Amino acid sequence: MTVPITVRLLEIFRIGLGPSSSHTVGPMRAAAFFREACVARGILPERVEVDLLGSLSATGHGHLTDRAVLAGLHSWHPETVDLDSFHGILDTLAKDPRVSWGNGFTTVKPDAVRFLRYAEYRHEELPHPNTLRFRAMRGKDVLLEETWCSVGGGFVQRPGDPVPPPPGAPLHPFHDGRTLVARATELKGTLGDVILANEQNWETRTGEIAEGIDRVWAAFQACISRGLERKGDLPGGLGVKRRAAELLARVESGKVERVYSHIARAQAYAFAINEENAAGGRVVTAPTNGAAGIVPAVLVEFAERTMLHPDVIRNALATAGAIGMIVKTHASISGAEVGCQGEVGTATAMAAAALCQLMGGDVKQVEVAAEIAMEHNLGLTCDPIKGLVQAPCIERNAMGVAKAWSAAQLSLHSVLSNVVSLDRVIAVMKRTGEDMRREYKETSEGGLAVSLPEC
Ligand code: SF4
Repeated sequence: MTVPITVRLLEIFRIGLGPSSSHTVGPMRAAAFFREACVARGILPERVEVDLLGSLSATGHGHLTDRAVLAGLHSWHPETVDLDSFHGILDTLAKDPRVSWGNGFTTVKPDAVRFLRYAEYRHEELPHPNTLRFRAMRGKDVLLEETWCSVGGGFVQRPGDPVPPPPGAPLHPFHDGRTLVARATELKGTLGDVILANEQNWETRTGEIAEGIDRVWAAFQACISRGLERKGDLPGGLGVKRRAAELLARVESGKVERVYSHIARAQAYAFAINEENAAGGRVVTAPTNGAAGIVPAVLVEFAERTMLHPDVIRNALATAGAIGMIVKTHASISGAEVGCQGEVGTATAMAAAALCQLMGGDVKQVEVAAEIAMEHNLGLTCDPIKGLVQAPCIERNAMGVAKAWSAAQLSLHSVLSNVVSLDRVIAVMKRTGEDMRREYKETSEGGLAVSLPEC
C-alpha cells in the first residue's frame, strides 16, 4: 500500500525547547490542545488531572515532562515560551495554582501531573509508548477526558484520529525515497527542490517557507553560540560537564589533527547544541531534540567555511528534511518506539544527505549517503542514564557528525551499490525497533542506563 507523505518541512525542524521533543515539546503541545478542546466546548473545570504513562512516566522526570504539561495547560507554546517562566512553573503553581482558562480560572496544582508506575496499568494496552491522559474535573465528575500520544519529534495525535493532510495535493507527489529521487530527476534538480516546490505551492503568502527556514537557521546558529559560551555542570545531578567551548578551543589552537579539524569543529557545535538541549534551552528538532545537534553542526560548519548562499542553505535543509519526512512516514523518529536508531540514526542520515548534496553529489549519491548513514545506526538502543538527555545522547550526536561525514564521502567516492536501498533500510529500521525489548526504548531500564556502578 502506498502511504502518502503528509509531514511538512517545518514540522521536521520545529523550534522549541529542551530537553526532549517527545517528552517535553510533544506533551506541552498535547496539553495545549486539551485546553483548547475544553475552552471550545465551554468547559471550565474545577481542576485538571494528567496521567503520564509508558516511557513518559519512566523518564519524564529527567525530561521535564511535568513542567511541559503544566506549561501547555497555560497555553504556552514551545517556540515562544519564556524559558525562566517554564523552569520556574512548579514553584509558581505551588504558590498560586490558579490558571486562567477561557472566561475564568481553573486549578492546576504542581502534583496534578502523575507519573504512573508500570504496575498501575497494562503497558501492552497503551496506544503508544508515550501516552498522556487528561481529565477536566468538577468534584468527582469528569467533564472531559482525552488521551494523547507524543509520537516523536514534537508530533502529537489522539489515538485513531487521522493525520491532518497538507493543504492540497502536492505539486510533485512522492511517497518514499525511490519516488522522491524520481521526482528530483524529472525536475533535473535536488531532493530539496522537490520539497521546496511543494511547500511553496502551499504558502499562504509568497516567501513564507523561505522565512520559516531562515528562522530555523538563525535558531541553529543562536543555539550553537549560546552553547559555546556556557560552562559548568549540566542540571540533573549526573555530573556531566559542558565540553563544547573547550573542544572548540582545542580545534582553534591547532591541538587537533589538521585532517580531522572540520569534523572536530562540527562536533564542538554538536556538543554546544546538545548541552543547551540538556539544560532545557531553546533548540530546534532535527528531527528530534535528543538528536538535535547533528544536522545543524554539520551544515553550519560547512556553511561557515564555504560561505554558502542562503538559497543553497535552504535547499540543503530541505533535502535533509526530506529524509526525515520519509523516515517519519514509514518507520518512526521516536526513541520510545524504535530506539535511538530512529533519532540519531535518522538525524545522521539527514545530515549525510545534505552534506553529500553540498559536496556536489547527484540525487542518487545523496540517497545512498542517507542509506549508508542509516544502515550503520541500525539496532542503536535508547538508554539515557537517569532519564536525562545527556549520556549517551550528547556524545552520540558528536559521533553522528563523524558518521554523516563518512557516509557522504563514501557515497561520493565509491562505486554506487544498490544492494540495500534507502527505503529498504528504513523498513529494516522499523522492524528492528519493533523487535527491540521495551527496556531499550527510552525507559532507562536497560543498557547504559542500568550500568552505573552502585555507590
Ligand atoms: S539515547 Fe538517543 S533516542 Fe534516547 S534520549 Fe538519547 S538521543 Fe534520544
